[in-house]
Amino acid sequence: MVLIANYRHFCYHYFMTIDLKHFQEKLEKEAGILEGELKSIGRRNPSNPNDWEAEEKIDEIEERPIDPDEVADRLEEYEENSAELKQEEIQYNEVKDAMKRIAEGTYGKCSICGEEIPTARLEANPSAKNCIAHAK
Ligand SMILES: [Zn+2]
Repeated sequence: MVLIANYRHFCYHYFMTIDLKHFQEKLEKEAGILEGELKSIGRRNPSNPNDWEAEEKIDEIEERPIDPDEVADRLEEYEENSAELKQEEIQYNEVKDAMKRIAEGTYGKCSICGEEIPTARLEANPSAKNCIAHAK
């Protein structure tokens, strides 16, 4: 096992100029932060683990007369959380995709032209999948 791991490590460094281990660590850290944020405002869709939904806190107010202002506030909060959640979900899935590309050996290459993405760009955005010319 140790020999295989060392051999793979050697190959990565021999064929690629980017430090995959460094970016893998960055991506793992980012995935952890995003997962924490997603869990704090939402919950994972039980039928689709890649989908997150904002948590509705309606059950907390059912025991007493409902103040329409409060309902409006809660709906607003829910909508804000949903929008935030959507953004974080997109980021989280991009990070997960980048981690998949590391595993597949395609990380750091532009998905359009195949050129290596400059390290500075990956430093700023480790989940970038295109070179600067092909960035959206
Ligand atoms: Zn490109």
